[in-house]
Order: sequence, then structure tokens, then C-alpha cells
Amino acid sequence: MPENPLEHLKALIERYTVISFVPDIDRYRRITSPKGGRCIFRGCPEPIAWEDARGENFLCEGHYRTMKTWIEEARKGLLPGGHLSPLFTQGGEDATRL
Ligand SMILES: [Zn+2]
Repeated sequence: MPENPLEHLKALIERYTVISFVPDIDRYRRITSPKGGRCIFRGCPEPIAWEDARGENFLCEGHYRTMKTWIEEARKGLLPGGHLSPLFTQGGEDATRL
């Protein structure tokens, strides 16, 4: 098991996304015109809302917040364990239910 926050962060990213590096979340920008692409979180069906400075590695709104939280927590050395859901299913957000 990784011990330090940065290793833990990388492990989370490798486990839940299709990338294997820590994205430069501070340089992410909101996608303003429709474009093709998928959220980097595995199996995420949400529309993409954010892209990195190169226009790659898209994130949906919910996963942008998830990634930002992970990185901020890792910077503080306080990355929580497995109870932070990467798929934000705990908040009652069920996209399949209308
Ligand atoms: Zn997503």
C-alpha cells in the first residue's frame, strides 16, 4: 500500500482513470464549445465539462471536483482513504433516474 499522499494520489488516479499521471488541475479550463471526447474516469457516462491546457484529458463536472479534491487533499497530506467515492454515487445523483 502506498504510504505518502502523492503515491496514494497516483494510485487512485491509476485505479479510477485512464491516465497514469497527476493532471495539472490548476490549468484546467471549462469547455465552452461542444467537442468529442470522454471523461478520463473509467466508464464515466457524464458529458465532458473541463479540459487541460492542451485541450486533452477531459473531465466531467463531478469528476473535475473529485480530482480537485484529491489533489488538494494530497497537497495538504490529508488524502482520505477509500471512503471518498470517485463516482459520486453517494449524493443521490442518479443520472438514470428522472
Ligand atoms: Zn466523469
